Amino acid sequence: MTTFAGTVAALGTRHGKELVIGPTLRAQLGVRVEVVSDLDTDRFGSFTRAIPRAGTAREAARAKALAAVAAHGNARFGLSSEGSFGPHPSVPFVAGGVELVLLVDRETGLELLGTDVTMETNFASTCVRTPEEAAAFAGEISFPSHGLIVIAAPRGKPDTALGMTKGIVEPAELEQAVQQALRQHGRAWLESDMRAHLNPTRMLSIERATLALARAARSLCPACGRPGYVTVERLSGLPCADCGEPTGKARAEVLACAGCGRREERPLVGASSATPYDCPACNP
Ligand SMILES: [Zn+2]
Ligand SMILES: [Zn+2]
Repeated sequence: MTTFAGTVAALGTRHGKELVIGPTLRAQLGVRVEVVSDLDTDRFGSFTRAIPRAGTAREAARAKALAAVAAHGNARFGLSSEGSFGPHPSVPFVAGGVELVLLVDRETGLELLGTDVTMETNFASTCVRTPEEAAAFAGEISFPSHGLIVIAAPRGKPDTALGMTKGIVEPAELEQAVQQALRQHGRAWLESDMRAHLNPTRMLSIERATLALARAARSLCPACGRPGYVTVERLSGLPCADCGEPTGKARAEVLACAGCGRREERPLVGASSATPYDCPACNP
């Protein structure tokens, strides 16, 4: 039986993520989050182009959480958070963000995951030729409450070797970095700085992912009591309201326990039939 209250979780971060993960886990589970600050989480991949991430976001999160608990020494749990940004997975032409917060138990190997998928992100980039264009983009991504990166961009392509300024949060600093890039290369590449401490929108998403993690921790397997009894799959095949044929719409979710292997299918609440519009027979 896993108990959380009164335990310590080690979190490797240099970007202030403990400011949202710490209070949330303490309130929800009674877990105290302690930062392992000398852990170089950037070596697992970073947003600022230095090191591309290897493997999936979940694998990166697992590696970071294990490194944090190993570096801490006497924490029971390792914690990490990992964000991915890009085109939204299901909405065309819209930027989206996915935040994972992952917890591993050093003693049992239990792994819990909280996820937040959101369209609320300021993830964006652009190439500018004038200070006015730079100022307009800065406004769009909520600068200066959110940080910015400026990169030299000869021929319109960002080239960090020629010059990059990260973590810009002062208008004067932005102006200077843009002027310098424009003077030297004719164009400047601007992008939102997605590091958590410079991005309050991202911090809110990390907080929601942490709440999802706490829900997973409280969701116990009815057979063996292990935490993390969560939805692992959605089953399509909701019948068409007109002809009754199965459609691509979800009809049920599958909950599973990674400990004892129990699986359970639960019909989705409020989903009894699909519209003929979604039916391959009625609307081929
Ligand atoms: Zn039909
Ligand atoms: Zn179980």
